[in-house]
Amino acid sequence: MPTEPLFEPLDSATRTRLRRSLQSWYAKRARTLPWRETGEAYPIWISEIMLQQTTVTAVVPYFERFLTRFPTIHDLARAEQDDVLRYWEGLGYYSRARNIHKTAKQLVETTDGEFPRTVDDLMALPGIGRYTAGAILSFAFDIPAPIVEANTLRLFSRMLGYEDDPRASRGQKTLWAFAEHLLPRKNVGPFNQSIMELGSLVCTPTEPDCPSCPVRSSCQAFALGKQEQIPRRAPRQQITQVVEVSVAVRHGGRFLLRQNAEDQRWAGLWDFVRFPLGEAELLVPESGFESGKPLARRFTAHVEQAVQEQTGLRIQIERFLAEQKHSVTRYQIRLQCLFASVENPSALAETETQRWVAPADFEAYPLSTTGRKLAKRLQHDAKQMRLL
Ligand code: SF4
Repeated sequence: MPTEPLFEPLDSATRTRLRRSLQSWYAKRARTLPWRETGEAYPIWISEIMLQQTTVTAVVPYFERFLTRFPTIHDLARAEQDDVLRYWEGLGYYSRARNIHKTAKQLVETTDGEFPRTVDDLMALPGIGRYTAGAILSFAFDIPAPIVEANTLRLFSRMLGYEDDPRASRGQKTLWAFAEHLLPRKNVGPFNQSIMELGSLVCTPTEPDCPSCPVRSSCQAFALGKQEQIPRRAPRQQITQVVEVSVAVRHGGRFLLRQNAEDQRWAGLWDFVRFPLGEAELLVPESGFESGKPLARRFTAHVEQAVQEQTGLRIQIERFLAEQKHSVTRYQIRLQCLFASVENPSALAETETQRWVAPADFEAYPLSTTGRKLAKRLQHDAKQMRLL
């Protein structure tokens, strides 16, 4: 039985005209971005991984620092994971950093750092999906490989007037097939760059600049006046509020840092003793604790017991330091930062994943964003008390 086509194909003359208009638009409007200058697979790969879930403006300084520290795939493969995470610190989604480190090691071991030249072989590497594979192949090697990412998903959905969910299976199939349909045989890299740039600069999520768009004549959403309805929005995530604590446990002039395990949030990063309060979050006032005021005994007793269960350490909460508010996926977290002293430090054996660390040495450890804020506060306090 013949299957229904996913979309109405464009004739060859229309596709040629579209590519030409895109090419001349891109020549005038393309931004200068550091990873576009080299055309080499390694910086292209690093930039594409960093750009997942992160804006270009946020990525540029991270990319430059990272490439200065690890200029080649061999430098990255040789590095310690802590060092790689330290240079990723603040970008979030840390599994990306752990995966690029694994991939670098794997490629150096198996191909002396050369990237494979097919989508399937690239996708077999940790952290490389179909989009990143297409970007590496087309930008670095000019191999025809389509791409669909956030910007092109929006652009293609609008060009096709695709009103169903573009993230669902049929939507994905349609958009990837359309991306392939538009792809030229040569100069694939600049073509893919131009459609991403168009999605980012002109075909924006709200108020797209249709009058200046080079593909307007082939855009169904524009013809139907449905630019604001297409693509269909992803359903909103339900937000859950939680309260957690982070305890700076002090032994002499040092504090306990622990490395998050593989199955934990922020795996590989280090942190103070941190955990969710669960039902005990009712002990934290909605308006937050007041600095300098004594904490409720039931609350400190609960935290002290939880720390003892986790570490074997008997601690005494001395004071409330600050509340940090932040979000992780669908959780909005109110993090209560506390300062504690320890009565039995020898109950904890230092290992590869738990150490007493002086504030002057915090810089050497990759920390979560909230962990870094607390570390800076402790460094500041330690300086005042002349512990550094
Ligand atoms: Fe996007 Fe408007 Fe261009 Fe259509 S005409 S692709 S909606 S910018």
